[in-house]
Amino acid sequence: MSDTIFSKIIAKEIPAEIIYEDDISLAFKDINPQAPVHFLVIPKKAIATINDIAEDDKALVGHLYVVAAKLATEMGFAQQGYRAVMNCNEFGGQTVYHIHLHVLAGKPMGWPPYTDKLKIE
Ligand code: AMP
Repeated sequence: MSDTIFSKIIAKEIPAEIIYEDDISLAFKDINPQAPVHFLVIPKKAIATINDIAEDDKALVGHLYVVAAKLATEMGFAQQGYRAVMNCNEFGGQTVYHIHLHVLAGKPMGWPPYTDKLKIE
């Protein structure tokens, strides 16, 4: 497993605006926010992509959603709603190869997520 910038954030080798931490996960503000609220929830275990999630990781990945919902409630946007999304590989728009749940809130989200006029066939 190669080191990513998120491994360095977990190790506190580089700074981040950490908003939550427990034994197995960490949440911090996205450095390039795409919504009024945008933070990432990551496992401390380095898993490169969704494709690399193993059977043994099921509870860990579920935990990321539990943390996202807990923070959404605490930060006051749970009822209004939000987007919690994990990108995978090139077409999914993944740039950091350590899985992370994006939590976006504070304005209505668009759908579909792609911006070009591609027709799905
Ligand atoms: P993705 O494109 O789904 O892999 O998302 C990676 C996210 O990590 C992007 O939204 C980046 O803005 C964010 N990001 C990259 N480096 C940092 C950093 N040092 N601190 C906080 N967020 C970061």
